[in-house]
Amino acid sequence: MSNEPTSRGYALLRDPRSNRGTAFSLEDRSRLGLEGLLPPQPSTLALQVARIHGELANLPEDIHKYLVLSDLQARNETLFYAVIMSDPATFMPLVYTPTVGEACQKFDHIFRAARGLYLPISAKGRLADLVANWPAHDVRFIVVTDGERILGLGDLGVGGMGIPIGKLSLYTACAGVPPETCLPVTLDVGTNNEALRNDPLYLGLRQERVRGQDYHAFIDEFVEAILARYPRACIQWEDFANQNAIPILATYKEKICTFNDDIQGTAAVALAGILAALHITGGRLPEQRVLFLGAGSAATGIAELIARAMTQEGISLEAARARNLLFDVNGLITTSRDDVMDFQKPFAIDHAPIDDFATAVRALRPTAIVGVSTVPKLFNQQVVEAMAELNERPIIFPYSNPTSRSECTAEEAYRWSNGKAVFASGSPFPPVQFNDKIFVPGQGNNVYIFPAMGMAIYATEASRVTDQMFILAARAVADQVDDESLAQGLIYPPQSRIFEASLQVAIRLAEHIFDEGLARVPHPGDIAAYVRARAYRPEYRA
Ligand code: NAD
Repeated sequence: MSNEPTSRGYALLRDPRSNRGTAFSLEDRSRLGLEGLLPPQPSTLALQVARIHGELANLPEDIHKYLVLSDLQARNETLFYAVIMSDPATFMPLVYTPTVGEACQKFDHIFRAARGLYLPISAKGRLADLVANWPAHDVRFIVVTDGERILGLGDLGVGGMGIPIGKLSLYTACAGVPPETCLPVTLDVGTNNEALRNDPLYLGLRQERVRGQDYHAFIDEFVEAILARYPRACIQWEDFANQNAIPILATYKEKICTFNDDIQGTAAVALAGILAALHITGGRLPEQRVLFLGAGSAATGIAELIARAMTQEGISLEAARARNLLFDVNGLITTSRDDVMDFQKPFAIDHAPIDDFATAVRALRPTAIVGVSTVPKLFNQQVVEAMAELNERPIIFPYSNPTSRSECTAEEAYRWSNGKAVFASGSPFPPVQFNDKIFVPGQGNNVYIFPAMGMAIYATEASRVTDQMFILAARAVADQVDDESLAQGLIYPPQSRIFEASLQVAIRLAEHIFDEGLARVPHPGDIAAYVRARAYRPEYRA
């Protein structure tokens, strides 16, 4: 494939995929009709990256940095990715959570260039025509939302588009899924957010959300329209409300290449945390007893994946589920309770009622506690001290987001456990000094899973995404955590080397996809070389 730009002259400077801005060499400028259109002194890519770093450093608000980066993405895609990949730990929170949340909330007030595909339910019956308007001929990866449950911010209607855009940027920046194959999509089925509907600047349909059969028929039409034009595409569902997310995944999981990161990616990143923590605590997975504070979709999703991973190390699914215990707002989930929901039932145990979490810890003797309750401070001193008395190295994961909801802080976990806790959280915490040691808290961020999954699917053209692929991804992430990180208590790979870690995970997944006969490309022989060769890198190629 030639790398020669498809446009020339002024149009080339307006084509983000081919534009190099000031990095066009003098020879390029002469050949491509650019002479006189740029300041005379050419830059290198490294200098352009430094220029953006400098510009961002002077901006006081993260949302302004987000906008500068978003404009850059619309102007010079290579430079945009070069900037993000120059320092992923700094830039990920600017192009994705938490900053993207504010961008979604302000979407209608800060709207700039169009990006992605908007499919309103008012176009029902004509979605294929709308999909035909997308310019790319080979889309492989779609992140789609209906905007109903954007992060922890609720229904943001069409403003949810910031999420597919930001998330796809991470697929590229963190694992090399080529940007030209990615398509962000927002399905606009209305919004129940009245403030938005009454905002004169709101850009979506001003109607209540469509529910029930009409909603699901619209989803079916969307899937059909996408796969008719892009048969090799994987569809990743993002930030749908549980009431739709779970049935949509159940409908399509066995039929097409699809997954839901909120459900499956979350579970995998938590499993990865437990597996890596075992490198510190020294235990085996089937010996663990995990007590969840919270029994919602996150808790049950994580519990089920851990249980399934336990079965691969020699115990039955029933025994494995009994090692994953749930505790919700009404106490321990037991078989005698009459308010236990169907999706919680597999984890209900035969036990006397307990309505205090510290008491549950003492009675059930967990090796790990995972907080997914959305309620801050519930891993209090009593709870953490009990965990430290029961375990040489207690595993303590307050996963509720954002930071203000975390069940405890990193500092509290280390202090109350006298430095024994193996800690990871949903939102980031800075390093903690306790006694003479610096502890580096890990963040159970789905970014360790979904970009690698995307890269493996892209490279192999996988026909399905299975639960086993998520268990394998979790194992591969845990294997990336080196001794130096473990010595500091860090149980996820450092975000600074996310690209290499993701490629390793993608290679393991690709091997599995070929082994299971799920690949739709011929076996390449050397799978690692094959995956690496397909990974996008932000370079101006001659
Ligand atoms: P959910 O609303 O479905 O579930 C919340 C659960 O917490 C319910 O079972 C509820 O009964 C329980 N709960 C509420 N108050 C409680 C109390 N006082 N004591 C005990 N239990 C209580 O929410 P969810 O979708 O399962 O998400 C839960 C949290 O997990 C969120 O904060 C989310 O941000 C976080 N999360 C983090 C990650 C991650 O870090 N990777 C991933 C997914 C979810």
